[in-house]
Amino acid sequence: TKSPRKGIEPETFRNAATTMIDYVIKYHKEIGNRQAFPDVEPGFMRDLLPSDAPKAGESWEDVYSDIERVVMRGMTHWNAPGFFAYFPTASSFPGLLADILCGGATCIGFSWVASPSCTEMETVMMDWLAKALDLPQCFIHGGHGPGGGVIQGTASESTLITLIAARSKVIRRELSRDPNLSMYDVLSRMVVYTSNCSHSSVEKAGLLAMIEVRKLDAGREGIVTGKTLQEAIDEDKKNNKIPTFVCATLGTTSCCSYDNVDEIGRICEIEDIWLHIDAAYAGAALICPEFRHIANGIQRATSFNFNPHKWLMVNFDCSALCSYLSNSANVDALYLEHETQQTTIDYRHWQIPLGRRYRSLKVWFVLRMVGIDGLQSHIRRGVAEAKYFESLVRKDERFEIVFPVTLGLVCLKLKRLGLNLEENVINEELNRKIQDDRRIHLVPSTVHGIYFLRVATGSVNCSRQALDNCWDVIREMA
Ligand code: PLP
Repeated sequence: TKSPRKGIEPETFRNAATTMIDYVIKYHKEIGNRQAFPDVEPGFMRDLLPSDAPKAGESWEDVYSDIERVVMRGMTHWNAPGFFAYFPTASSFPGLLADILCGGATCIGFSWVASPSCTEMETVMMDWLAKALDLPQCFIHGGHGPGGGVIQGTASESTLITLIAARSKVIRRELSRDPNLSMYDVLSRMVVYTSNCSHSSVEKAGLLAMIEVRKLDAGREGIVTGKTLQEAIDEDKKNNKIPTFVCATLGTTSCCSYDNVDEIGRICEIEDIWLHIDAAYAGAALICPEFRHIANGIQRATSFNFNPHKWLMVNFDCSALCSYLSNSANVDALYLEHETQQTTIDYRHWQIPLGRRYRSLKVWFVLRMVGIDGLQSHIRRGVAEAKYFESLVRKDERFEIVFPVTLGLVCLKLKRLGLNLEENVINEELNRKIQDDRRIHLVPSTVHGIYFLRVATGSVNCSRQALDNCWDVIREMA
């Protein structure tokens, strides 16, 4: 018999949940046998699934038996030892436990009354994170200043919501200076500045907010300096444009370079420009005092974002944004009003959607069960792995390390070595061979016209042995 409201009876759920947990444990235990990137062609799934949903509900056993046949068949295994692409994504059992509770309790905490527990846990967890990373006081709810943190789904949303906040601020400022202007006059003159090495999500935020994005040259080293920014601002001001927002990156996706936030921040202070720092990947490393120098000048930022779901053992989705956003997306409706709204945080004003999950539970579980010590060890292990891989590459004269290895990313390329081919062509071919071979999964990138391979370390199943295998494959293909 089926429980009409919950889908299945509680006892059936208990049994199914036990088999599901056992499956997940086995999946992790035996992930070394899985190929990181699957052998499927686009459209493969249609052949595996019926064309319509079943009319009558099926048994759990039937669903379970399709997990390997259907789901795993086309899975990219982000935690397989052969996966070195992008940046790693976190996967921890404490994080998973919290996700079970989050799904099980099903709360939608858009305002304080919609779930006081969800709202208040999030403010405390954001403070725990900010203090663990030694972020400036202005980003702490219980600190000195108006700011505080919020958990967004992704770094892309964080960039968009902060850009929208900056846009509102500049519109208010310009209209108070000249009431004859319309907000559209102001909007059409606004400019966003970012590096030509920053993540594509910055350009997308500009597209969505309808603001021109000016990409600054980060040069051969992938770093935007204050001088480059100042020149662009001066030129734009001469053309009657309004410099509105700068998105600087700490830890670019391509090569893990760091914009000069101190120089950029000083200019933003003088010019009254919102400075957002995208530290989606590298921000997690600030939990270790020895890496805090990468964030020199961070106290000049208006907002700062990093993804615990990348490198801080909190399963996707959890993107921590520290700022002061409470008025930027404020739209009220009678059914959302409540008695305490003047004195409590309503996170719906700090994000794009209304509904929100109880994401801070995973931060709480991970911070309590792993502790700051455990997270520091996790980061240090990832950095040590990258240094180890760098040492392997440096021993082979055919290869070159393209950017300094500062955290868990190694960028390398093959030299020309007298071949009558362009270096980029040689490396594109090397990348193609590695992809076709399938034993490891990498993604390439380019900076300043130079094409190279990226090996990202630090995932839960990365190890010296995995890196030895990776290096063997690269050399064999080379
Ligand atoms: N910014 C940087 C520097 C990144 O490396 C990434 C993803 O790797 C992003 C933004 C986008 O992250 P998200 O998927 O959380 O939007």
